[in-house]
Amino acid sequence: KAKQSGKNCYALFDPSADQRRKANSTAIRKMASAIESGQFLLHYQPLVDCRRGRVRAAEALVRWNHPLMGLLAPGEFLPLIEHDDLIVQLGERTIADALAQIEAWRVTGLEMDVAVNISARQLHQRDFLDHLDRLLAPYPPETVRHLKLEIVETAALDDINAVADIVTACQRLGIRFSLDDFGTGYSSLIHLKRLAPAALKIDQTFIADMLDDSMDLAIVEGVVGMAQAFRCDIVAEGVESIDQILMLLELGCDNMQGFGLSRPLPPDSFQDWVRQFTPDPRWKLASTGRPN
Ligand code: C2E
Ligand code: MG
Ligand code: MG
Ligand code: MG
Repeated sequence: KAKQSGKNCYALFDPSADQRRKANSTAIRKMASAIESGQFLLHYQPLVDCRRGRVRAAEALVRWNHPLMGLLAPGEFLPLIEHDDLIVQLGERTIADALAQIEAWRVTGLEMDVAVNISARQLHQRDFLDHLDRLLAPYPPETVRHLKLEIVETAALDDINAVADIVTACQRLGIRFSLDDFGTGYSSLIHLKRLAPAALKIDQTFIADMLDDSMDLAIVEGVVGMAQAFRCDIVAEGVESIDQILMLLELGCDNMQGFGLSRPLPPDSFQDWVRQFTPDPRWKLASTGRPN
C-alpha cells in the first residue's frame, strides 16, 4: 500500500519542484529585505550621438550590491521576481532613484536625460499611472522632463491597447518612451503607429553580428529606415567596436550605446566621464557626405 501511494504521490507531488518553490520563495523574501535595506543601486550608461559628438542621455541599469556576492547584474536576480509584485516595488524604487539623480545632477549643472527600464508586470499594473504621478509629484517640470521610460518590445505587444493608453498618458506628462530590444518581438507597422515611440532601440544581437552577417546588417538598415519614416529616434545597443560605430554612422544610425563608448558607471564616474568626453575624430569622417 505504501509503495502504491508513494508512487501516486510522486506523480502528483514532484519533490524537486516543491524544493525549487521553497528555495524561490526564500530567495524572494531575502530580496524583499535587501530592497528595504537599500542594497539596490543604479549604474548609468551613456547614450551618445556620435554624428554630433554629444552625450544625449543615460540609461539607468539596476545592480544588487550583495553583501556576500558583490555587485550582481539584473540577469542574476530579475528573472526570480519578474512574476512577483516585488518587481513592481523595485521598479518604483528605481524611478524614484533616477528622479533623485536627475535632480542631483541638475543642481551641479549637468542637465541629463535618464531612461529607466519598466518591466512588463509594472507596466500592466492597473494603477501604474497613479504610482508614477506620486513619484513625480515632488519634482519640478525641469526635472520631470528629463525622465524617459524604456519598454521591451515583447512586453509592449502583450496588450497593445492598454499599453498604448499608458504611453499616451505618459507622453501627456512630457515623458518620452522607447521600445527596447527592438527586433526581438513582432511589432507590425500598425503597432508602431499606435505607440508612436520616441525611439527604437535596436537589440544588441543584431549589432553584434552586423559586420559578419549580411542578414543582420539588412535588419539594422531596415529598422533605421523604418525609424526615419516614423520620425522617431534610433539607437543601437551593444556597440563594442569602432568598426561598428563607423558602419552605424554610414547607415544613418547616430545614437549609440555600448561598451565601445562606456560601460554602465556609478553616478560619480558617469559625471566624470561626461566631463572628459571628447568625440573621436573618425566619427566625423564617417558621417560626412551623408544627407542630413
Ligand atoms: P537593456 O535595457 O537592453 O540594457 C542593456 C544591457 O546591455 C545592459 O545589461 C548593459 O549593461 C548591456 N550592455 C550595454 N552595452 C553593451 C555592450 O557593448 N556589450 C554587451 N555585451 N552588453 C552591453 P544589464 O545592466 O545586465 O541589464 C540587462 C537587462 O536587465 C536590461 O536590458 C533591462 O532589460 C533589464 N534591466 C536593467 N535594469 C532594470 C530595471 O531597473 N528595471 C527593469 N525592469 N529591468 C531592468
Ligand atoms: Mg533598456
Ligand atoms: Mg535593450
Ligand atoms: Mg535587454
